[in-house]
Amino acid sequence: MTSPPSVTGADVVVVGGGLIGSATAWRLRQAGLDVVVVTGERAAAASHVAAGMLAPVTETTFTEQSLLRLNQASLDLYADFAAEVSAASDRPAGLRQVSTLSVALDADDGAKLGVFAEFLTRTGHHTQRLTSRECKQHEPLLAPSIRSGLLVEQDWSCDNRLLWAALIEAGRRAGVREVAGFVHGVRSRADQVTGVELADGTTLPADHVVLANGSWAGQLTGIPALPVRPVKGQILRLDPGRLPGPSLTVRAFSRGSEIYLVPRESGREVVVGATVEELGFDHRVTAGGVYELLRDARQVLPMTAEYALSETSVGWRPGTPDNAPLLGGGGLTGLTLATGHYRNGVLLTPVTADVTARFVTTGELDEVARPFTLDRFAAAGQAVR
Ligand SMILES: Cc1cc2nc3c(=O)[nH]c(=O)nc-3n(C[C@H](O)[C@H](O)[C@H](O)COP(=O)(O)OP(=O)(O)OC[C@H]3O[C@@H](n4cnc5c(N)ncnc54)[C@H](O)[C@@H]3O)c2cc1C
Repeated sequence: MTSPPSVTGADVVVVGGGLIGSATAWRLRQAGLDVVVVTGERAAAASHVAAGMLAPVTETTFTEQSLLRLNQASLDLYADFAAEVSAASDRPAGLRQVSTLSVALDADDGAKLGVFAEFLTRTGHHTQRLTSRECKQHEPLLAPSIRSGLLVEQDWSCDNRLLWAALIEAGRRAGVREVAGFVHGVRSRADQVTGVELADGTTLPADHVVLANGSWAGQLTGIPALPVRPVKGQILRLDPGRLPGPSLTVRAFSRGSEIYLVPRESGREVVVGATVEELGFDHRVTAGGVYELLRDARQVLPMTAEYALSETSVGWRPGTPDNAPLLGGGGLTGLTLATGHYRNGVLLTPVTADVTARFVTTGELDEVARPFTLDRFAAAGQAVR
C-alpha cells in the first residue's frame, strides 16, 4: 500500500485513515495541499464495522438541537458527496436513499414514538405515524406483534465499507499520500505545529496536523488532553441467502435497549446492531452480546432466525462527554480536530471533511460546526491539560 521511507514532509499530516481521515484528506488535496495520511490499522476502525445508518432524525434526542443541525447539514450534502466520490473513484459509494421505520413493540414504545414524532414535527421534520397494518405494508417481514411505527423518509443508509473503499481510491487518484503506521505524537515549537513523530521514531514535518484517529485521539503525546473515550459496540452481519430480506432500515426498542436492522442494496447482507458498552478497548465478541442481538432481531423480524450469521465484530465509537464531535482548533496553531463522532461518524463524514478542509485552508470555522469546539469542555470545567 505504501512506502514509508520515501514519504517526506507535507503541508498537512492527517492522523488516522478511517472515513473521517480519508474524506478530509481528499478534500484537502482538492484544495491544492500536499497531504499525507498516516493510516493506523484499517481493520480496527469503527468505519469498518459500522452499520452505516444516515439517521439525523432517528438518532437525535430532545436536547441535541445543534447536533441535529450538524447531522442534517451532512445529510443534505450526502447525495452529491456520494456521487462525487463514486465518479472520482469509479466505485460504488453505497448510498441507499430509502426510508427508516421505527417500530413499537408495546404500548409504552408506541407512546414514546408519539412524543418523538411531535418533537420532530415541531423542529420541521417530516414523519408519518403508522398503524400496525401500515407498518406491515411498508415492511412485510415485520413480526405480527408490532404495535405501531414512525416512518422517517429522510433517514437513509450507506454501505460504509463501499464508501470507505471509494474514498481511499478517490484520495489516491487525487494524489493523497499514505503511510501505513501510527503517529506517536505531535511536534510543535512555540505552540506552532511542526509535524508528527511516528511510532517507529521517524518524523514527518508539516505545518498542519489533522487529528482523525477516532477513539484513539486522546493517546497522542504533545497535544492538549482530549476528552475522547472508546465506546464498545458489538455488531452482526446476517446473510439472507435465498430468503427475502427487509427492504427498509428497521429500528426498535427491546427490553430497554435499541436494536436496528440495516439491509444492503445487494440483498446479501443485513447488519444487526449494536451493543453500547463502556468497557474501553475490550475487543471480545461475547456470547451474551450476540445472543441479545439475535434475540431482539428475531422479535422484530422473525425471519432473521433463518439467515446465516456471516460476521460478528467489535468496534469503538469515539465518544466525548456530550457525545458530540470535536471540530476546529486543537489548542496549538496548526492542530485541527476531526474526531469524537460517536454514533454518527458515517453520517457526519461529508460535513466534517468540508468544514475541516475549510478550517485548515482559511482559519475560519463554519457556523454549523462552532458548537463543537474543544473549549466547550474547558468552559464546563472538564478542562484540557
Ligand atoms: C458498532 C458500531 C455501529 C455504528 N453504526 C453507525 C451508523 O449506523 N451510522 C453512523 O453514522 N455511525 C455509526 N457508527 C459510528 C462510526 O462508525 C464512527 O463515528 C466513525 O466510523 C468514526 O470514524 P473515524 O474515521 O473518526 O474513526 P475510525 O473509523 O475508528 O478510524 C480511526 C483510524 O485511526 C487509526 N489510528 C488510531 N491511532 C492512530 C495513530 N496514533 N496514528 C495513526 N492512525 C491511528 C485507527 O487504527 C483507525 O483505523 C458506528 C460505530 C460502531 C462501533
